[in-house]
Amino acid sequence: MFVLLNDEFVNRNECLIDIEDRANQFGDGVYEVIRVYDGEFFLLHDHLKRLIYSLEEAKINYDIHHHNLADQLQKLVEMNNFKDGGIYLQISRGASPRSHPFPKHTQPTLIAYPIPVTRPLESQEKGIEAILHEDLRWLRCDIKSLNLLGNVMAKQSALDAGAKEAILYRDYNHVTEGSSTNVFIVKDGVVKTHPANHYILNGITRLYLFYLAELLNIPIVEEVYSIEELKNADEVFISSTTSEVISVIKIDDVQINNGKPGPIAQKFLQAFFKHKNIKHLS
Ligand code: PMP
Repeated sequence: MFVLLNDEFVNRNECLIDIEDRANQFGDGVYEVIRVYDGEFFLLHDHLKRLIYSLEEAKINYDIHHHNLADQLQKLVEMNNFKDGGIYLQISRGASPRSHPFPKHTQPTLIAYPIPVTRPLESQEKGIEAILHEDLRWLRCDIKSLNLLGNVMAKQSALDAGAKEAILYRDYNHVTEGSSTNVFIVKDGVVKTHPANHYILNGITRLYLFYLAELLNIPIVEEVYSIEELKNADEVFISSTTSEVISVIKIDDVQINNGKPGPIAQKFLQAFFKHKNIKHLS
């Protein structure tokens, strides 16, 4: 497997990263996961736009245009003869003797490589169960940061409970997002999802669903909603690069839509593939 390490392509076993890379000690970096279908990137430019946002907010000085990142990623896909899956990409603040302040003369470290992703067809067909979990993360969830301990612990709690996703809340009246997904509820035909602010990651799939909603004439609003609204919703579904769209049919002990995937999620899923040749959303 070829890995893009800074500006060079190297074999995986030759990809040397310093033990004092700040990704290791501090999770001091940002990342993206970009889907590849049939050898083609899906919404690459929207992912790169979000990457620029994360880099700027984290004050990591890396110019993706100067490094021709879009072309390099394209080359990475070709060199690996990669057809279906994801490209994982992370940029850390670089390697420097361990100390909290930003190092002065350190170059960021970039790695990018293919990761396996298979379409979650069974989950899409049957729906999944979720648990509710307190959102114990920091308050800059809009930055796609490498610090994922809160997400990882919430996800594992879901799996330990026999479910597949943890839906996070900050207090009873504030459902934020999933441990690795955005969450949508439907009531009386209107779709509602958390506003894109510092409490959630503004998912690229979430943005794609806004685009599809317009095409499909499905009303969609960005509004905070409560646990009660979540549990009383006609439908609940999640979105992400790897999940696409998946219905949630049970949350803790409460069945949603009688334990069946709902019609709006199904509409989005069908439209998802019909329109996926779109080059970029914004
Ligand atoms: N929220 C969180 C916390 C995530 O980790 C992800 C997936 N990376 C998402 C939302 C969905 O984002 P996207 O649609 O860009 O994959």
